[in-house]
Amino acid sequence: MSILIKNGNAVSSETVFKTDILISGEKILKIGDIAEQEVSRLCPDDPLETVTDASGKYIFPGFIDAHTHFDLHVAGTVTCDDFYSGTKAAVAGGTTTIIDFASAYKGESLMEGLLNWKKKAEKGCSCDYSFHMSFSEWNEDRSKECEEMIKEGITTFKVYMTYADKLDDKSIYEILVRLKELGAITGCHCENSGLTDALREEYASDERSRLVSSHYKTRPCAAEAEAINRLLYLAFVAGADVIDVHLSCEEGLKEIRRARNRGQKVYVETCPHYLLLDSSKLDSKDFSGAEFVCAPPLRTKHDNEVLWKALADGEIQTVATDHCSFTREQRLLGKDDFRKIPGGLNGVELRGILMFSEGVKKGRISPEKMCELCSENPAKLYGLFPEKGIIAEGSDADIVIIDPEASYTIRVSNQISRADYSNYEGLCVQGRIEKVLLRGELVAENGRVVSENRGRFLKRGKYSL
Ligand code: MN
Repeated sequence: MSILIKNGNAVSSETVFKTDILISGEKILKIGDIAEQEVSRLCPDDPLETVTDASGKYIFPGFIDAHTHFDLHVAGTVTCDDFYSGTKAAVAGGTTTIIDFASAYKGESLMEGLLNWKKKAEKGCSCDYSFHMSFSEWNEDRSKECEEMIKEGITTFKVYMTYADKLDDKSIYEILVRLKELGAITGCHCENSGLTDALREEYASDERSRLVSSHYKTRPCAAEAEAINRLLYLAFVAGADVIDVHLSCEEGLKEIRRARNRGQKVYVETCPHYLLLDSSKLDSKDFSGAEFVCAPPLRTKHDNEVLWKALADGEIQTVATDHCSFTREQRLLGKDDFRKIPGGLNGVELRGILMFSEGVKKGRISPEKMCELCSENPAKLYGLFPEKGIIAEGSDADIVIIDPEASYTIRVSNQISRADYSNYEGLCVQGRIEKVLLRGELVAENGRVVSENRGRFLKRGKYSL
């Protein structure tokens, strides 16, 4: 069955253009002026099923969220969103592809890690999905297995400079060299673990251990900036391109500018919470600030604005969410010790509307820039272009229709994520994600999923941004 979308304002990274879009099967068949009568000639075997009038609406390529954590065992618990609820939340918010992080635990092969995560995804995915592969150790076996991963379509990797899976500089350097050899790339969580560990111990030893604010005070910008600087110098010597995931602050951005001035290619991701929320959320006298615990932590309003400007200026390439959700009850694990609060925010459902409302509608970024940050650049950086990330003939018909004139208030009661609060509760947003198509099928309408479990695993190619 074919679908004709009439008179929409299609968005690319370069322009917004008024057009009709004809979808046949899973693909965009034709773009341009298309009369209803023409459809039977253009796709004779595919009768016209639906004509949607999109006058006055924006039409974006489906959003790609390249940073989620569904069904992740961490901090003595498991994230409350698994692949079933997480991908439903994603697609309701216009995200038609997610890339989650598979991990090979210590002693496991990368393939064992991948199969483990593929199994988690079998619960049902409502958007398309893939995985990055996280290393928890580095040795000859893991090095060999990278090639196998690339054959499986896992072309991007992840290293941590903090947490239990942290790798030392020698390992990170060797990974950068190896992936360069294979034409692959790694993202890195940059925080100096020695510094944060020392500060966390210090704060935990007195009455500050019960304060949620101790979380951000013990993970200063200096810890992030130092780690970014170290990563970028390792990459400099390795001659490798690299991705800094979830940049949160101006100090970190300065290190990226320095590396670029040395001639390095550095890709940068940030998240909506580093653009819209600040650390004062953790200063509450009660425990409610725990709902805003994530790492790197929320920073200042100044950092928010610096990052918005960096998006507009092209210094940051992608916006993802780092979705890692917990309920209020789960957060209570850290009631007496801030170090035990499970960390991560639930963002996968709201990224599209937040970037549209707070970015485009407030004039901080153009619709074209939003398309670049949420669709086109992630598709290129993560080896999905041009099947994903663009509205073009032959591309997957992953389509998001936004009504720019609508508005509504974010309420947890309307949320699909299993988290029992929203970090944006009560925020009145401008615009509404009206319809979401996944490979030619209407899967979500006005925040509700109308056809679930339609997602499939994507084998990805090499990065090309
Ligand atoms: Mn993460």
